[in-house]
Amino acid sequence: MIAFISDIHANLQALTAVFADIDRIGGVERVYCLGDVVGYGPQPWECIDLVVNRCSVYLMGNHESALINGALGFRAAARDAIDWTRDTLFQGAHGPRLRNLITHLPLRHTLGDILLVHGSPRDPVMEYVLESDLWEGAEEGKMEGIFAQIPRLCYVGHTHRPGVFTQDHCFLPAREIADGFDVSDGSKYLINVGSVGQPRDLDPRACYCLYTGDAVYFRRVAYDIDGAAALINANPRLGDRLSARLFKGE
Ligand code: ZN
Repeated sequence: MIAFISDIHANLQALTAVFADIDRIGGVERVYCLGDVVGYGPQPWECIDLVVNRCSVYLMGNHESALINGALGFRAAARDAIDWTRDTLFQGAHGPRLRNLITHLPLRHTLGDILLVHGSPRDPVMEYVLESDLWEGAEEGKMEGIFAQIPRLCYVGHTHRPGVFTQDHCFLPAREIADGFDVSDGSKYLINVGSVGQPRDLDPRACYCLYTGDAVYFRRVAYDIDGAAALINANPRLGDRLSARLFKGE
């Protein structure tokens, strides 16, 4: 069994709860991280350290890219958090080593016919694949273009909204497939593994994904949101709007 985690966003309480869940389940051979370990949250260094120690792969997310290339297109709160994260990570004794690590994170990883990226197969770091891309008036040909670049399965993060996109243009939110979803019929699927540290599907529990080789299972893990929020609120460069959303899962 394989576990996929993404979008930790420097929330160490959520990340440690997820690893405890993985350890409790047992039988998880490898954990892959699809990026955005940093940004928004108060403990970027601790989260990077844990991910580097426990994950087979750590992919570049748009928040890692923002540390190196600038926070283009970010809202003010996200940009302020990235500026603080950059100062914290790169100015200390570990600065050069961390800058080197983050600069060279891979953009994609393949496991046979399974592609792993942060955003989408055609733009691995920045592009969002959303439910609204299936609606009338969405960008013409977007989903066809994305599915054309999927070998068979593609695991992504980035939107913080877990679920499965099917080749015939349906989206099944994680809550509607709570007993798992079979992906072994040879069709293509794009699976969003959700967010560990900042879920946005109105379920505030940490989210990650297990893959058995046949089916995907979305796990929800309760964690110490009060503790995570208190650390954000104690940091004048993060701001309490970033803590309030953790309680709502939005
Ligand atoms: Zn993210």
